[in-house]
Amino acid sequence: MRSIDLSVADMRLWGMSLALADIFAARNTIAGVAADTPLVPSPFLSGLAGAEVLLKLENTQPIGAFKLRGAMNAVANLPEGAAGVSCCSTGNHGRGVAFAAKRAGLRAVVCMSSMVPKAKVDGIRALGADVQIAGASQDDAQAESLRLCESDGLVEISPFDDPFVIAGQGTIGLELLAERPDIQTILVPLSGGGLAGGIALAAKTIKPDISVIGVSMDRGAAMHESLAAGGPVEVTEVASLADSLGGGIGMDNRHSYALCRDYLDDTVLVTEEEIYAAMQALYFEDRIVAEGGSVVGIAALMTGRISAPKGPVAMIVTGRNCDMGVFTTIMTGGDVRLGDTIVKGKRYGA
Ligand SMILES: *Cc1c(COP(=O)(O)O)cnc(C)c1O
Repeated sequence: MRSIDLSVADMRLWGMSLALADIFAARNTIAGVAADTPLVPSPFLSGLAGAEVLLKLENTQPIGAFKLRGAMNAVANLPEGAAGVSCCSTGNHGRGVAFAAKRAGLRAVVCMSSMVPKAKVDGIRALGADVQIAGASQDDAQAESLRLCESDGLVEISPFDDPFVIAGQGTIGLELLAERPDIQTILVPLSGGGLAGGIALAAKTIKPDISVIGVSMDRGAAMHESLAAGGPVEVTEVASLADSLGGGIGMDNRHSYALCRDYLDDTVLVTEEEIYAAMQALYFEDRIVAEGGSVVGIAALMTGRISAPKGPVAMIVTGRNCDMGVFTTIMTGGDVRLGDTIVKGKRYGA
C-alpha cells in the first residue's frame, strides 16, 4: 500500500526537518505489518534498577528486529517509477528492506561488508534479495550501494539517515507512550542514530521531560564520538558482539546526527564482557533470545553505568538475529573470538 504523505515527501525535497506528524503517518503506513510489539515487565531488571523496567520486544518483529518499521515506511514512500531499492546494512536493515521490497514486488539489493555474520547474510538471501559483499567496512558497502543506484536506477535507503526510516523507527516512541504514558526513561541501543533519534523526537515532543539515553559498545561508537566532537567523525570498525551497532554515521550526515544532538539526554558505552553478561542475563532471567546489539542497555543497568534511572524505564530489545552458534557458546560460558580479540567466557551466575 502506498500512502500519500505530503509533509514527508515535501521534506525530502526541501530538506525540512522531521516532525511528530511524520511519525504518526509512518504508524498508519506500517500498521498491521510492523507495529505494536509487546511491552513486558522484567522483574530481574526492575530489581537491579530499583525502578520498574519494561522490555519493548522488537525481537518479535517478523524479521526479528525493529528495522522493519523504517524499511516498510521508506519502501511505501518511494518516488514513482523506482526500479527497485538498494541499501548497505550490518544485517537487520537489509532484512527489513528485503522483506518490504518483496511485499511491494520490487527488486532489492543489499550491500554488506565481510564483517556481517553469516546468519544475517543467509536471512537476507532467504527473503529473495540480491546480496553483494563489498569490502571490509560499512563505508565500503555504502559506496557499492551508491554505485548500484547510479548504474541500475535503484533508490538508496539509508539504514539510519533517511527521514522515512527515522519516522518508521520513531513509531516505537508512540507505542511506548500510548501504552504507558508514565514512562520516564527510555534506553535505546545506538549506532547510526535513526532509532534513538526517531524515538527521542516522538517521545520528547509528546512528553518533554522524559529522558532518552543512547547506549553503544565502547569500541567504534560512532554517534557517541561524533556528539563529543561536535560533528560527524570517522571511527575504526572492529568486530563486536554488538555487530548491528557497527559502522560510521556518515561524514555528510543530514538527519540522525542533529536529532541525537538535540534530543538525547546522554550516551553511555559498555564493554564486550558486559554485553556477553547481559545476553546471558536476559536469557536466563527473562528467557529472551536477543543479539548483542540489543542488550547494551541491559549491560548499562547491570554495571551501574546507568544508575538509579527514573522509572518506569523502557528498554528497547532491538533484535534477535544472532548467530546461534555464538549464542550457544555464550549461554554455556565459552570464550568468543572477535577478530583478533577474545571475549573471555564465564558461566552465568558462576
Ligand atoms: C540497527 C540496529 C540498532 C541501531 O539502530 P541505529 O538506528 O543505527 O542507531 C540497534 N539494534 C539492532 C539490533 C539493530 O539492527
